[in-house]
Amino acid sequence: MTTTSHPLPQLDRARRLDAADPLAPFRDRFHPVPEDALFLNGASLGRLPSATPALLDELVRGGWGDNLAQARTQWLDLPQRMGDRIAEVLLGAEPGEVVAGDCTSVNLYKLAVAALRARPGRTTVVVDDDNFPTDRYVLAGVAADAGGELRTIHTDIDQGLDLATLRAALDDTVAVVCLSLVSPRSGALLDMAAVTEAVHSAGALILWDLSHAVGAVPIQLNACGADFAAGSTYKHLMAGPGAPALLYVRRALHDLTTQPIQGWYGHREQLAMRPGYDPDPTIRRFLTGSPPVLSLTAIGAGLDLLAEAGMDRVRAKSLALTAFFQELAERELLPHGFRLAGPPDPAQRGAHLTYEHRAARELVPLFAAAGVFVDHSLPDRIRITPAPLSTRFTDLPRAIARIRDVTIRHERKTG
Ligand SMILES: *Cc1c(COP(=O)(O)O)cnc(C)c1O
Repeated sequence: MTTTSHPLPQLDRARRLDAADPLAPFRDRFHPVPEDALFLNGASLGRLPSATPALLDELVRGGWGDNLAQARTQWLDLPQRMGDRIAEVLLGAEPGEVVAGDCTSVNLYKLAVAALRARPGRTTVVVDDDNFPTDRYVLAGVAADAGGELRTIHTDIDQGLDLATLRAALDDTVAVVCLSLVSPRSGALLDMAAVTEAVHSAGALILWDLSHAVGAVPIQLNACGADFAAGSTYKHLMAGPGAPALLYVRRALHDLTTQPIQGWYGHREQLAMRPGYDPDPTIRRFLTGSPPVLSLTAIGAGLDLLAEAGMDRVRAKSLALTAFFQELAERELLPHGFRLAGPPDPAQRGAHLTYEHRAARELVPLFAAAGVFVDHSLPDRIRITPAPLSTRFTDLPRAIARIRDVTIRHERKTG
């Protein structure tokens, strides 16, 4: 473990911030990690809630092991039950508008095809070049199958999408626009209401990727008039590796949209084993087959924590943590080759902040060896995500000091 060569910056202030933090007790609701380990990578895989192992144990031993007879049918409506809770706690959506069952990529595929079908005569799909690769791959396939065009607009990888660029790309051939509410790289947070309005005024539909937003920032899908959304549950929602993604469709669109992977879970009479497919009238029409019940159940633990904390308080602490990190970094890291590579105003970011450093690729594993866990993103970015429910303010000066010292040593060694 690294010992610091300079005094820790701002440790007293951090202690006062911890003492005044209403969410501080939530730290004890997570699986304990070594005292020296500082996890600032909540945007890639959320920490393990302490409640999760017991939840899964009960399901495996009790539900599956002891109650085998009913095990097959017991969870038929779980995708919807979990969806309803996600809708209420995190999305500003109504019961019956959200399900969870497939991964984000598959959900994006279903929703993009549904959107194209709902806008007959329009075959252009709009995406931006800063979106996550899987989004672009899926949409390229969807556009090609529709005989249409994938129109890729440019987003500044530091500052995020410019609304004027989006507006200029919209015309009466565009069926659907797919954007990340929070940029996976820069953390730039879009104005959901303004973007949705711009897309609608061109007669197109909006498909939001909420992977870096759900559980990170308060979201109001209904109030913004959003049409479709998908997003990961294993990042800020802490549901664990491979947990299924959410899928949202605005209620008014349920009758007007169908999806391409027609399976028995989406059938009006799932257990009647009819010869032909007849889509359920509700959000269930977006389901396909048996959901991963274990990981779907695991979503509940993180969701309980976020519900108890309240997204407004989670956001307030996230803003305070990232602003504090930014302030410390200005003094301690910028002199050593770091540059803030995202919007400077915390209110215009999600829950992570990103720095550029030309040695990012080499430094990130060195930080990990010193007990500070952050993400490397291409080309030369370091992503810092202090998860509000498990990060102390005092973790940040400690992390900054180690990052600084590791970087100084690396500088000396490489010249
Ligand atoms: C993490 C992430 C995904 C993940 O997709 P999966 O299909 O669930 O693996 C998709 N889109 C974005 C923007 C992401 O950040």
